[in-house]
Amino acid sequence: AAKEAGKDTYAVYNPQSKMHDGGRILLENDLRKSLERGELQLFYQPQVSLFPNRRIGAEALLRWHRGHTEWVSPMDFIPIAEETGLILPIGEWVIRTACQQGKRWIDAGYEPFVMAVNLSPRQFRQPGLVDLIRSILSESGYPPEYLELEITEGMTLDVESASDKMRQLRALGVQISIDDFGTGYSSLNYLKKLPISRLKVDRSFVRDIETDLGDRDIVKAIIDMAHNLKITVIAEGVENKEQLAFLEANGCDEIQGYLFGRPVPAEEFERGMKLSDMEKSEE
Ligand code: C2E
Ligand code: MG
Ligand code: MG
Ligand code: MG
Repeated sequence: AAKEAGKDTYAVYNPQSKMHDGGRILLENDLRKSLERGELQLFYQPQVSLFPNRRIGAEALLRWHRGHTEWVSPMDFIPIAEETGLILPIGEWVIRTACQQGKRWIDAGYEPFVMAVNLSPRQFRQPGLVDLIRSILSESGYPPEYLELEITEGMTLDVESASDKMRQLRALGVQISIDDFGTGYSSLNYLKKLPISRLKVDRSFVRDIETDLGDRDIVKAIIDMAHNLKITVIAEGVENKEQLAFLEANGCDEIQGYLFGRPVPAEEFERGMKLSDMEKSEE
């Protein structure tokens, strides 16, 4: 089923224009029931370090198997979940499921790796977030230092309150990264004030990196800036060897993208880990 869940088979809902009101209301109603109907699933995409070359993490990415028949892309339902507040129960399910899965993999003997989970703006602002994450960590037994919360630049605009919340989260032992970096308004000064462990370079800068001089300069500048602040840089959306070569040559620390693996269901991700462990033991 994993292979069938590729981009091409996604039904396209454009929340802004294409969908008529009826479609939107239907979608919203179905989304409301998605949790209890067991239609939500997490896919996992590997993250690898370049020096040395090894798996260091996975990003948990949400998938909705609507009516158990069609796959809806998160780009099409996360905005609706965010608007309606459904993102709170859904987001809680995501964090809990990712931690439980991570714990199962540790218990099964795989080398622990960082599990990255996306937080939406509403989730990040919710007053009970720190308590919620504390209780999920203790329920699941997942080691806090292996949980990373991905937030976007927009959520840090109010630097004072964002850094306060981030510090409370860091106090639990979890890590925080900035997702889609470069598309928002963060400045160097901003980053200095926030307790961030990783920057994720947005894939729009990686896409044309072979040809676009502007993108090359931006990516180089992000890497240098982050390293000056002792922040690790991971590039998203790496699809080919040429992109990889540029990133490697310019000191990018880590990579996530189709070149190393697409997001896949837990079972398939685990098969990948088994294979690479076998290769390692043969070396
Ligand atoms: P994101 O957090 O920036 O996640 C990376 C997206 O890039 C994922 O899309 C992933 O499948 C895609 N991707 C990874 N490598 C490549 C590549 O080499 N080439 C290309 N073209 N794409 C690549 P996906 O899974 O469709 O998710 C889209 C967005 O939806 C995510 O962007 C994130 O903002 C949001 N999202 C996904 N899951 C969750 C969730 O559990 N909670 C929240 N709040 N948002 C989520
Ligand atoms: Mg992300
Ligand atoms: Mg991203
Ligand atoms: Mg994104």
